[in-house]
Amino acid sequence: MAAPPPTVRLSWGRVPYPPPSDVVEPLSRSAALRLRPDLTYAPRGNGRSYGDSCLNPGAGLIETRHLDRFIGWDTQLGLLKCEGGTQLSEIIRFALPQGWFLPVTPGTKYVTVGGAIANDVHGKNHHVAGTFAHHVDAFDLLRSDGDLNETTRASNADRFAATVGGLGLTGLIVSATLRLKRVEGPWLEQQAVRFRSLDEFFEVDAALKPRHEYTVAWVDCVATGVERGRGLYMAADHAGHHPEVRIRRAGLRVPFDPPVSLVSPSTLRVFNWLYYHRPRQSGRRLIHYEKMFYPLDGVLEWNRIYGPHGFQQFQCVVPPAASRSAVSAVLDLIAEHRSGSFLAVLKTFGERPSEGFLSFPRPGTTFALDFPEHGERTRRLFSEMEAVVIDHGGALYPAKDGLMSAAAFKAGFPVWSRMRAHVDPRFSSQFARRVGLVV
Ligand SMILES: Cc1cc2nc3c(=O)[nH]c(=O)nc-3n(C[C@H](O)[C@H](O)[C@H](O)COP(=O)(O)OP(=O)(O)OC[C@H]3O[C@@H](n4cnc5c(N)ncnc54)[C@H](O)[C@@H]3O)c2cc1C
Repeated sequence: MAAPPPTVRLSWGRVPYPPPSDVVEPLSRSAALRLRPDLTYAPRGNGRSYGDSCLNPGAGLIETRHLDRFIGWDTQLGLLKCEGGTQLSEIIRFALPQGWFLPVTPGTKYVTVGGAIANDVHGKNHHVAGTFAHHVDAFDLLRSDGDLNETTRASNADRFAATVGGLGLTGLIVSATLRLKRVEGPWLEQQAVRFRSLDEFFEVDAALKPRHEYTVAWVDCVATGVERGRGLYMAADHAGHHPEVRIRRAGLRVPFDPPVSLVSPSTLRVFNWLYYHRPRQSGRRLIHYEKMFYPLDGVLEWNRIYGPHGFQQFQCVVPPAASRSAVSAVLDLIAEHRSGSFLAVLKTFGERPSEGFLSFPRPGTTFALDFPEHGERTRRLFSEMEAVVIDHGGALYPAKDGLMSAAAFKAGFPVWSRMRAHVDPRFSSQFARRVGLVV
């Protein structure tokens, strides 16, 4: 009997794309990839990228959900070898009770190790810990011709640099060895500070970033006039053991797909005002890692609130000297377009150079915003914001992107062509074709 046709795969932005024509799901890391000769394939982790880097409409996908085994664990050194489809949530569940944690984590724990390497993801501790790949000792890369090779910085520096942040184009990461970090328990001490303007954000950041391991800020991007650029700055550090403190688990889920987006200028204004003025929002407190690192994971499938057309994220990074002017110009554009985002995250990266040819983190300020997908209207706003970022010498983040132009990609990642020699000829994605990384 013929296999049923593959169903639609969504990325986190839920913008509808046509389904893939073929999906392969290797059951073990040594299984040969059975690829159709007429198609290219994109690896897919847990689809937590917002745009089209994990999609390959009309072509092939390699799902990694069965590659989720732990392979080796050195409890003294915190060295973990696991398969590429293992989710970060599983690593935390295994390692935290033994006093180990992820050295770098993005804002959701539902991403796979392969996906975290392929986007060389960053966390709130970039200024002290660098990117995810800085804590990867080695990975096994399976190419479409069956070649399976362990890659380290020493064994093949170029293939290492092409694969970390390499958007899944160099082959399938079937396993990786990570260095975890020692912690005393699940708690952090958090300090929150309200800032009243962008200038004040940069002052608070300069004062707190050198003293704390984790920093991040939320900006009220619908506030205008004297309140423009206001927000909340959070700084945190791992705390000692606090067995007496209990966590209330929310376990909420958005239960249905609303027929229209629930995010509109009026809901945003109310939400942002309440969030900024919420009592106990500033000051010091003990906070569980789930709330500090993964506040959005507290409401499962929150991405459904944007309705059937989904949403687009815009995340940029701009160099230190251009940061104020670029972030300010982006806020102005959002106001001019009468748009807004309730997720508006501002963070300054540290100085540690990223290792991948296409790694996104670099010294400067990163700003991330979500917008409901409104077709042409959204495209106009994004192309104006893109122009601001590129004019200021910045880049857009492929993991979050569904709209950047090929010119913006090439300007933001000037060594992109060094990837070419390492791309597996059978691998591709909608993103890679859209920005001219592969033909
Ligand atoms: C709520 C939320 C918060 C986020 N916060 C952050 C953040 O703070 N910092 C940050 O950097 N990112 C953040 N992200 C983005 C997310 O971390 C990345 O998109 C991540 O790469 C997703 O991993 P995934 O396993 O879902 O991979 P997918 O999204 O499925 O794939 C991502 C890329 O990896 C490739 N890939 C996947 N698996 C493999 C493999 N085994 N071998 C080779 N290539 C592979 C795919 O082809 C694709 O190019 C966030 C996402 C969400 C939804």
